[in-house]
Amino acid sequence: MMPKLFRTLAFRLTLWYAGIFTVSSCVAFILFYFLVSRTILNRIDQDLLDKANGFSAVLSMKGVTGVKNLAVLEARAAGEKKIFFRLLYPNGQVFATSHMAYWKNLRVGEEAVKGLISGKKNVFETVALRPDSQRVRVLYHFSGPGVILQTGLSMETYSHFFVAFKRVFIVAMAVVVLLSALCGWFLSRKALAGVGAVTETASRISGSNLDARVPETGNQDELDYLAKTFNKMLDRIAGLVASIREMSDNIAHDLKSPITRIRGLAEITLVQGGDRQAFESMAASTIEESDRLLDMINTMLVISRADAGEGGFRFEPVDVSALVAEACDLFAPVAEDKGVGLECSVPGGAQVMADIGMLQRCLTNLMDNALKYTPARGRVWIEVDADPSDRVEIRVHDTGEGIGEEDRGRIFERFYRVDPSRSEAGAGLGLCLARVIARSHGGDVTVSSVVNGGSCFSISLPKGNLRVI
Ligand code: ADP
Repeated sequence: MMPKLFRTLAFRLTLWYAGIFTVSSCVAFILFYFLVSRTILNRIDQDLLDKANGFSAVLSMKGVTGVKNLAVLEARAAGEKKIFFRLLYPNGQVFATSHMAYWKNLRVGEEAVKGLISGKKNVFETVALRPDSQRVRVLYHFSGPGVILQTGLSMETYSHFFVAFKRVFIVAMAVVVLLSALCGWFLSRKALAGVGAVTETASRISGSNLDARVPETGNQDELDYLAKTFNKMLDRIAGLVASIREMSDNIAHDLKSPITRIRGLAEITLVQGGDRQAFESMAASTIEESDRLLDMINTMLVISRADAGEGGFRFEPVDVSALVAEACDLFAPVAEDKGVGLECSVPGGAQVMADIGMLQRCLTNLMDNALKYTPARGRVWIEVDADPSDRVEIRVHDTGEGIGEEDRGRIFERFYRVDPSRSEAGAGLGLCLARVIARSHGGDVTVSSVVNGGSCFSISLPKGNLRVI
């Protein structure tokens, strides 16, 4: 089990920060090392070449004896442990040297001599005098016809630089690792402080308390954005919880009333000990109430399934004009009973792909409402509009009580009813079902209304819809 600290994001960010910083510093050090060591080596090589050119000039003027004397003098002047000179024949045989006590282990490089003979102008080598002693840079150079100069410089400066560099590197890297870890820890703690606030708020939220909100800094940065998004999500959840509560209250109310009625009727019939007719009437009322309940439960199921895209709709070409005309015939007696004028204006030929049963339910819900909420002597009329767009629109107009602006936004919710006393029969599911059906067909149901001036509910469906949502 890893300790808790090692699993925190702050710890992992610190590791990343320190790691990246250390690797970058290492790369910078290595580059610096190569640059400086290259410069020092070039400087040594240039010194050697200058000396070799001097020797070539003396050889041409004063001959081999002059060169021999120069070699001894130069080595003495620079320090016999710093530089040496050897003069060789092309077969590698040495014929003159400076004082070589310190350099006696240094051999003549056969490969280097071969390289010169094969045409190279200068050949450089880096060799160690003894194992683990400091290294020497050696130059082979043709000083004149048949005379090869082998000269070497101790790489003391180079070694000093290397030792100093190693020391600085170790100390600097220790400081870099420590500092970067501290900075990383500080920065990640600071950056994650906002996340902590979100976590803390989330832990304070429970089913009954959705009031807590994350403080917004207003900095417009990612954490502020996270806090805002989190708060918006909480607002939405609070809204949903409230509507679920309201819905369950409504369901309870709508279930309670018919059950109370059934129970009351049964009780009265039993207490009064009525005849066969009384029992038959009780059974008929029970069936009626039960049908209403079943209808409500079935509607709820249809809405839920269609909402989840599992409506099981069977799409086929439907003649909308015929469907509307049929519905008008069906509602004509109801309208007549209520004293409401019902008119249908249905041009032929409007077709859509639809589940005919569901489309019928959608339309009859709207027509039922129009007649229900329009008083006697009012008017209800249906229009079908198939032109000019690629949509077919069925509009159900009425001259009823109308719907206030506030309610218009909510009437499509499950169980929402404008009339708080629920005097008219209904469960508040009709419009919700109508909209869910229309949307499952790729269309929609919309409303426009004027209080006390009437309403117009419009089902809009795509003509060539073959899509099942
Ligand atoms: P209900 O079963 O109560 O009619 P609906 O979902 O069909 O449920 O309608 C929701 C509410 O919208 C109704 O309670 C009613 O107040 C209002 N409403 C629906 N249609 C109309 C209409 N044509 N005129 C006025 N109000 C309407």
